[in-house]
Amino acid sequence: MAKYVGADCRQCRREGCKLFLKGERCTSKKCAMERHPSLPGGEYGRKKRIKQSYGYIVQLREKQKVKRTYGLLEKQFHKYYEKAERMKGVTGTNMLSLLERRLDNVVYRMGIGSSRAEARQIVNHGHILVNGKKVNIPSYQVKVEDIISIAESSKEKDMFKKLKGIKITTPKWLEFDTETLTGRINAIPEREDIDLLIKEHLIVELYSRN
Ligand code: SF4
Repeated sequence: MAKYVGADCRQCRREGCKLFLKGERCTSKKCAMERHPSLPGGEYGRKKRIKQSYGYIVQLREKQKVKRTYGLLEKQFHKYYEKAERMKGVTGTNMLSLLERRLDNVVYRMGIGSSRAEARQIVNHGHILVNGKKVNIPSYQVKVEDIISIAESSKEKDMFKKLKGIKITTPKWLEFDTETLTGRINAIPEREDIDLLIKEHLIVELYSRN
């Protein structure tokens, strides 16, 4: 059988780590990183990885990992950095916290979408309410005490009906009740709440060079 290494999986192989871009496949044996963890390009890829372990390139790769994880373009991503820099506290942590509070990420973290890409589509298609109002902007920033729910007209769709009553583990800064299909933002996510194997200070160093 032909092996599956789609465009998303190539991104993981390029960064040398799982970016969890394909929902259930990412936690199954079908994951390309389980089967073929080397860089695309065979021997050439291996040499490239060794070369990449220095300075600027390491910082650049760390940025690419985060950008690809959240599915953002450079310009969008840089705006999060700029905003994080203006905030009090540690810039890298602020940046990750802002990214986590995107509505598409929240929908993913609540288990409504199996990947961030799917969660973004769910938001784009107007299935999500914030405090009872439809919000179809994936970058919308949620706030503490916001109530996230599924639009009444969407609840009968198979993708939401299958969530009913199942057990979903969420990070502690938010919760989602699969009986009522309603979630709540409990707190601003702290660094320890964000399970990304990222050295965000490298991204700050990279942008500080410019
Ligand atoms: Fe593909 Fe997901 Fe595995 Fe990445 S983590 S290689 S996107 S299946």
